[in-house]
Amino acid sequence: MTENTFSEDAPTSAATDAKKCVVLLSGGLDSATCLAVARDQGYDCYTMAVDYGQRHRAELAASEKLAEAMGAVAHKVLHIDLRNIGGSALTDDIDVPEERQGGIPVTYVPARNTIFLSMALAYAETVGAERIFIGVNQVDYSGYPDCRPEFIQAFQKLAQLATKVGVEGQPLRIETPLIDLNKAEIIRLGDSLGVDYGLTVSCYQADEQGRACGQCDSCYYRKKGFAEAGVADPTPYQSTTDAPA
Ligand code: ZN
Repeated sequence: MTENTFSEDAPTSAATDAKKCVVLLSGGLDSATCLAVARDQGYDCYTMAVDYGQRHRAELAASEKLAEAMGAVAHKVLHIDLRNIGGSALTDDIDVPEERQGGIPVTYVPARNTIFLSMALAYAETVGAERIFIGVNQVDYSGYPDCRPEFIQAFQKLAQLATKVGVEGQPLRIETPLIDLNKAEIIRLGDSLGVDYGLTVSCYQADEQGRACGQCDSCYYRKKGFAEAGVADPTPYQSTTDAPA
């Protein structure tokens, strides 16, 4: 586990009165917007990224840059190698599809949000955070079962039952501010809150510099989102033919 603490006197326990939250910050567009929402609500934000062996490594570097640029109190990277389990185009020897398909896509990572939220829960309890922000969204990616409100509600119940703070009656809530927004609405929201989307990486097969492929599902929805939002798309692409006109 690695940790960056951005402020000299960053509190790591309940040392200040400011309300705290943990933000799952993958480095993508949604999680960056989620961090901006949490910050706008007045939280001290403890950001967390997970190095799970994802093939799009550039998002981890993006996550760290975003945390610093957006004033996170501290940024933590946890390591759990989901390649040992596989079963996804993001962690296994399965090609990322270039066409959108029906059903749950092969980019689904088995139980990923359950694993990530469990890690965030441990971190939240330790730093005394009262909220966990996660940028799940059920509109554009309706195929992922662990992005649905029913899943979040179930995890919320687990969080109360599974933790010392929950048993002692302190609230620890899961916040999903993007769950009902489409990609264009998310981009407009983040734009209004000053998110620099040029720092974010959405592509499932971004190169080492974070440049997008322009072909995968994630690139498709991101590009469409900027166009629909009427916001300039700062995404760097590997091929200039993919760059927005
Ligand atoms: Zn892509």
